[in-house]
Amino acid sequence: MDHFPIFIRTKGTRVVLSGGGPAALAKLRLLLKTEAAITVHALDPAPEIRGWHESGGLALVERPLEPGDVRGAALFYAADEDEGEDARTAAIAEAEGALVNIVDNLHDSAFITPAIVDRDPVTVAIGTEGAAPVLARAIKADLEERLPATLGTLARIGKEFRKVAEALPFGRARRDFWRDYYFRAGPEAMQRGEAAVETALDTLLGDHLERKARPGHVAFVGAGPGDPELLTLKARKALDEADVVIHDRLVPGAILELARREAVLIDAGKEGFGLSTPQEQINDLIVEHGRDGAQVVRLKGGDATIFGRLDEEIDAVDAAGIDWSIVPGITSASAAVAAIGQSLTRRGRNSSVRFLTGHDTKGFADHDWKALARPGEVAAIYMGKKSARFIQGRLIMHGADRQTPVTLVENASRPEQSVLETTLDALPAALAAAEMNGPALTFIGLAPRAALASSNRHATGLGSAHDPEFSAQEAL
Ligand code: SAH
Repeated sequence: MDHFPIFIRTKGTRVVLSGGGPAALAKLRLLLKTEAAITVHALDPAPEIRGWHESGGLALVERPLEPGDVRGAALFYAADEDEGEDARTAAIAEAEGALVNIVDNLHDSAFITPAIVDRDPVTVAIGTEGAAPVLARAIKADLEERLPATLGTLARIGKEFRKVAEALPFGRARRDFWRDYYFRAGPEAMQRGEAAVETALDTLLGDHLERKARPGHVAFVGAGPGDPELLTLKARKALDEADVVIHDRLVPGAILELARREAVLIDAGKEGFGLSTPQEQINDLIVEHGRDGAQVVRLKGGDATIFGRLDEEIDAVDAAGIDWSIVPGITSASAAVAAIGQSLTRRGRNSSVRFLTGHDTKGFADHDWKALARPGEVAAIYMGKKSARFIQGRLIMHGADRQTPVTLVENASRPEQSVLETTLDALPAALAAAEMNGPALTFIGLAPRAALASSNRHATGLGSAHDPEFSAQEAL
């Protein structure tokens, strides 16, 4: 960010402008909306400028700017549209301590005037650091259309009411009141005129004062493996009612879009702290919002109870005395096994299945390798890509058949799903060749169902959801 947007108080501030042509006019039209004391220096001012001078909007000095003229001014505009003259006046202004803007000369300007959407007291400033004035204009036009013309009036009336609204407890109750005003009751009443808005505010405050504060609640919700259609109805309902959604990086945008429109979305996967947010910070975040009385949805990929550090979060919420519940989700192993047309258990093959993690907080995770190495065993390994070689080594060391089928399903249930079919023996090499970047589930002891795999005998094992051979849904 080369330029930092701020709002400058204009009351009691002196602004000087040199120039009397179209560029000067454009700036003056904006400046005249402010409370600033404006002085214009122009030898040959446009009639509008003369008019503004006569009506007391600004002071007009009909000679070129000279040293001393900018003394005490906060801002200076060089708007003579003449490179030499602009450089001369800018130098004077700079020496006299004003912030200088040279019209159409971003490089030599100390500040720039943004494109402005004016719903005073609500103002939106748009800047592109000179990169794309067209874009700024398009954004402005878009906002002009989207922000009702009455917004300024609503804000002005609202401002007068702020003190009265302090009857509501600080925090959520007050925010809910204002949200209700700006997004529902205010615009509704505005159609009947300003007086109606004032009445509406009184009524609305009465309603909100009567409302029993709803205690905060945290729902630990499984978002499933990525396909929004694999969300449970309960998960959808929780998202519908959420005030705050704190989600993992694994949760795709298509699912977040289902959250209540007013809900605040917080990405606990990065949240401004680089790659991942420390668990304690996530706990604090959940507790903070729960305490504030929010309906918090802690949204986790797959099922929240599987490799999701759920207990640490529950302990924190419990310790804060906040109510909570768990909404189960479809774990990625279920989605991945569906993608290869297999079952996790099968009579005569395996009567149990293990969910393992490739690594834990201490590094590669240790398991009962001996039991896992037995023929017919099936294991679903989460976070197993980095530990593939380690797992292979342990299993072979404990007597596993090198030809044991191994299947990786990357991005299960998502449009970019892909399947890698290999053996324990070839696992590290196949994985390296496949260059999988997405989350992947590794199955030990499962190959894609023959009907899916046979038609792809020549492939190296890498298939995609768009490949009929590899999409269980299409091939079955
Ligand atoms: N609670 C999650 C697992 C979290 S651990 C669940 O129940 O699925 C994160 C690991 O889950 C990833 O490293 C990957 O192994 C697996 N995973 C999550 N989403 C996946 C997906 N769409 N496809 C394949 N594996 C996935």
